[in-house]
Amino acid sequence: MIKNRIVQTLIDNIEAVRTLPPYEHTPKSSNPLLPISTNSIKKMTLVLDLDETLVHCSLTPFPGYTEIVELSTSNGDSSPSHSIKIYVSYRPYLFEFLEYCSQHFEIVLFTAGDQQYADSILMRIDPQNRYFTHRLYRQHCVPVTTSTQAQLYVKDLSALGRNLSHTLIIDNSITAFGFHLDSGIPIPSFYGQANDSEFFGVLNILDAILRFSSLPECREAAFDVRNNLKEIFNIESQVFPKLPREVAGQVIQTE
Ligand SMILES: [Mg+2]
Repeated sequence: MIKNRIVQTLIDNIEAVRTLPPYEHTPKSSNPLLPISTNSIKKMTLVLDLDETLVHCSLTPFPGYTEIVELSTSNGDSSPSHSIKIYVSYRPYLFEFLEYCSQHFEIVLFTAGDQQYADSILMRIDPQNRYFTHRLYRQHCVPVTTSTQAQLYVKDLSALGRNLSHTLIIDNSITAFGFHLDSGIPIPSFYGQANDSEFFGVLNILDAILRFSSLPECREAAFDVRNNLKEIFNIESQVFPKLPREVAGQVIQTE
């Protein structure tokens, strides 16, 4: 049951999320990260993480890798570039998953990884940009220092320039979407296991959300995908059990 494994993922991550600084104290992007949506059918926006969500990559061979990607690196100056080998495994059913998602959602690939590295992998997954409408990288994340002095990159969904009630994210790290916990579907991390079938559970959830959103009473303004995700995972109140952070923020502001 995917929900049980997700709950375990949640428990493993819960302390890390609590170390994030308050959202109000983090740098904000001045312009939306995405251009204005041009899709006329008003698809919801689905943000997908790359590493350990869609693929597993390593600089050393690991059991189950299926491909080697050569990445040439240079410092941008006249020093000679050199190439490194990246061992890659695609999560089982990745292409079927992307096929389904791209039909029903505007897909934004959002990785905290380096752009050159990510593009070398995305070139293999989506060479003709069939699946990903937009790509965002480490430089689009919010750099934060946690209360344990760790340096992390967080994906600020508010900065996308999309309606948050029609935006969701699938990521193996709940910390990565730690400022929008009720917008996420946390997926267990993928490390190259050939028998992984987590996409099926996620597809069931996406399918249920799409069916719900197409009900007449849910059309347009009435629909907020965060309500559905809250009902399924309830992440925000598990991480911050006493008071939702928005409420806590208001209390602090009005005092
Ligand atoms: Mg990841």
